[in-house]
Amino acid sequence: MLFEVLIIGGGPGGLTAGLYTSRARLSSLLIEKAIPGGQVATIEWVENYPGFDEGVAGFDLSQKMENQAKKFGLEIIQGDVSDIKVEGNIKKVSLEDGQTFEAKSIILAVGASPRLLNIEGETKYRGKGVSYCATCDGAFFRDKKIAVIGGGSSAIQEAIFLTRFAEVVYIVHRRDELRAEKVLQERAFSNPKIKFIWNSVPEKIDGADTVESLHVKNVKTGEAAPLEVQGVFIYIGYNPSTEFLKGLVRLDEQSYIITDDNMATSAPGIFAVGDVRSGSVKQISTATGDGTVAAINAEKYIEENF
Ligand code: NAP
Repeated sequence: MLFEVLIIGGGPGGLTAGLYTSRARLSSLLIEKAIPGGQVATIEWVENYPGFDEGVAGFDLSQKMENQAKKFGLEIIQGDVSDIKVEGNIKKVSLEDGQTFEAKSIILAVGASPRLLNIEGETKYRGKGVSYCATCDGAFFRDKKIAVIGGGSSAIQEAIFLTRFAEVVYIVHRRDELRAEKVLQERAFSNPKIKFIWNSVPEKIDGADTVESLHVKNVKTGEAAPLEVQGVFIYIGYNPSTEFLKGLVRLDEQSYIITDDNMATSAPGIFAVGDVRSGSVKQISTATGDGTVAAINAEKYIEENF
């Protein structure tokens, strides 16, 4: 089946691109691996997306974006893209389940996935105390002790959220200064349930059937000690989901997709938007902006090449 635009990934960048291409009356299919909304759907409360002065639940925001795009004709299916091949001007997309689609243009909005700590116990206790999603798993830790790893906006925002459930939230950070947005830092510093463990890195997650402790080492003193916790939430950044794109589009040294100002990749007719794009500041508002730019330029590409 030939579409004019095929969008891979249903986060804010992909959904906005779909909104614009559908309104331009281009036949548009969006393929999403999990649920539309991407990472945003898992954020409890979004406070910095313009237009929502009281903030908005991440899940509601993504549902609104999805409904808005569908209203204008965007088709959305669930599927995992395994391969893209270019034959002449036509792009051929294969899914893991064997389905194939063709498109005149592709917009890559594949985002990024949580970076792993790669320490002992991380894989063993995944789903048994180790988590990468506070909104999904936080409620299992009512009155429990939790460690959050990282000092960026994700770690601090989610640590604050977890104080709703936990008795105490330890933020374990490898430096003595946070990277997070200042307003989040202020909230964390004044939250009595949050305790900081500075200059420290996790070395091992231990337990029986579920997590019972996190072994933490102070990088300044070299001292190591187990911290009694039942939950370990890991927020140490994200890796771009570009493994299946190697050889198709140019990637930077960290495997993010290189684009120009039009969101065009090195492959004609293939665009990239949002967190997967090299140089992205990884905000919902910039992903939607990228989606708009890519959609308008995809339309132009189709007009000029077909
Ligand atoms: P990030 O900003 O890259 O922060 C990752 C954190 O993890 C850093 O504090 C880093 O320490 C630490 N870290 C990295 N590797 C580590 C390792 N192996 N062991 C221990 N610690 C490690 O990632 P993020 O917080 O997920 O944010 C990603 C992007 O999304 C950012 O651009 C951010 O602004 C944006 N974001 C925004 C909001 C918001 O606006 N409210 C919310 C969430 C995310 P160092 O600081 O020492 O490097």
